Amino acid sequence: MIQNKYKILLVEDEVNILNLVATMLDTAGYQTISAKSCASAQTLYSSYLPDLIILDLGLPDMDGMKLIEFVRKDSLTPIIVLSARTNEADKISALDGGANDYITKPFNSGELLARVRVALRNNRFSADEGRYPGRKFAIKDMQIDYDARQVFIKGEEIKLTQTEYNIVALLSENCGKMMTYSSIIKAIWGGCAQESSIKKLQVNMANIRRKFGDKPGETNYIANELGVGYRLNE
Ligand code: CA
Repeated sequence: MIQNKYKILLVEDEVNILNLVATMLDTAGYQTISAKSCASAQTLYSSYLPDLIILDLGLPDMDGMKLIEFVRKDSLTPIIVLSARTNEADKISALDGGANDYITKPFNSGELLARVRVALRNNRFSADEGRYPGRKFAIKDMQIDYDARQVFIKGEEIKLTQTEYNIVALLSENCGKMMTYSSIIKAIWGGCAQESSIKKLQVNMANIRRKFGDKPGETNYIANELGVGYRLNE
């Protein structure tokens, strides 16, 4: 069966990493277009309209954040940042600037491919009319009925407060994406992330995770990146 290959724009100035990732994507069946600077990435993006972008932030001509801004002016093309910058502030500004995901170097190739699959799948969902048919959402043993505002795990209803439900619904609509504290706070309560609102979010999140039966050290429904945000895992 011949399938259309997904086109991935890979933006990376370090040749070793560029070749490594390109080979990995090629082996996984993707078509890769590569750019070593922000300017050439903008040109390639406009002429090829890739399905996904993997982006290094430290580029020789401009900061990779400029490319995120450029792409987000007119499109929701998923962007995965692959960067050596490991601090929280950089992750938060890339995610709030519109990146879908953030992976730090050195990275694990299996993890990168998994994030690529998630980003491509989510983009397909949001491109469809009516994101979830019948206003229902399901991953693993969890089900959400958006019309009834109910959440079920293994068929049992999980009793959530209104706020807890709103947070779960928001994460599910962005399933697979790392949502920063401030993006969640803005969507749930309005306003910006202050110490008190972050505390409020963390308390709600702890309650949700307890009700979901999430346990530390296991693959849970909700992943927490300390100081950055939360992600609903597929
Ligand atoms: Ca670089």
